Amino acid sequence: VGLVEIADVSKSYGGTRVLRDVSLTVAPGEVLALIGPSGSGKSTLLRTINHLETVDSGSVTVDGQYIGYERRGDRLHELPEKDVLERRTQIGIVFQNFNLFPHLTAIGNVVAAPIALRRASKTEARAQGLALLDRVGLADKADHYPRQLSGGQQQRVAIARALALAPKVLLFDEPTSALDPELVGEVLDVIRGLARDGTTLLIVTHEIGFAREVADRVAFLEHGEILEEGPPAQVLLNP
Ligand code: ADP
Ligand code: ADP
Repeated sequence: VGLVEIADVSKSYGGTRVLRDVSLTVAPGEVLALIGPSGSGKSTLLRTINHLETVDSGSVTVDGQYIGYERRGDRLHELPEKDVLERRTQIGIVFQNFNLFPHLTAIGNVVAAPIALRRASKTEARAQGLALLDRVGLADKADHYPRQLSGGQQQRVAIARALALAPKVLLFDEPTSALDPELVGEVLDVIRGLARDGTTLLIVTHEIGFAREVADRVAFLEHGEILEEGPPAQVLLNP
């Protein structure tokens, strides 16, 4: 059974079908790379997992739960926003453009959610936040604001923030696409470390070499359909 289960998902924008009967499973501890041309639906598919996008048909569950719905009898009912937010805490997400809160320091960004959700006291949260910043190599930048950090450093803070609620799965939406080439490596190194530690990861990426090296499985999406899925050596051509 998958930790993430995407079953027969379809979605259209206007008259255009963006996802066509997509099924995809991510097992606990697995690293899945989702690749495919621009516009093929990768980001949309990723965002259905935490209910940032709704689907027209099919279902998405994380650890057996619908993030946006609950089952009562044989029917699904939409959950109130506060319950959706609660369930979303099981899913970390890292975006292409970092999306840090500009008015908060690095540590402030990392601890914002645990404090808001009262998962930890401010003192505990700060200690945990520092440990997470240390894990991404930025303990010494805890009190810097995003504008004082490079893109690679900002993205590493975003990863620490995504880990702060101890999510069951971490989603990456082209985490290195907005970075200058010389800053890509430091972010990939952090993701490599997460993979080694057994974190369940679903990564949308154009970094094919990285996918070949780190992914347990690769899914290739085109025109909203999964055309191929399997171990990297099977799906990805050699360079
Ligand atoms: P990818 O991540 O593979 O580049 P996306 O999931 O971003 O692809 O987009 C898939 C298709 O859906 C594209 O044709 C895109 O233009 C369209 N699309 C994405 N989001 C929206 C939206 N909010 N409204 C209308 N069309 C959208
Ligand atoms: P919008 O600005 O379209 O209303 P949302 O309210 O869905 O967007 O989300 C606002 C911001 O909150 C997002 O741009 C993103 O940075 C962050 N966010 C939303 N959902 C999550 C999540 N599951 N995990 C982490 N951050 C999230």
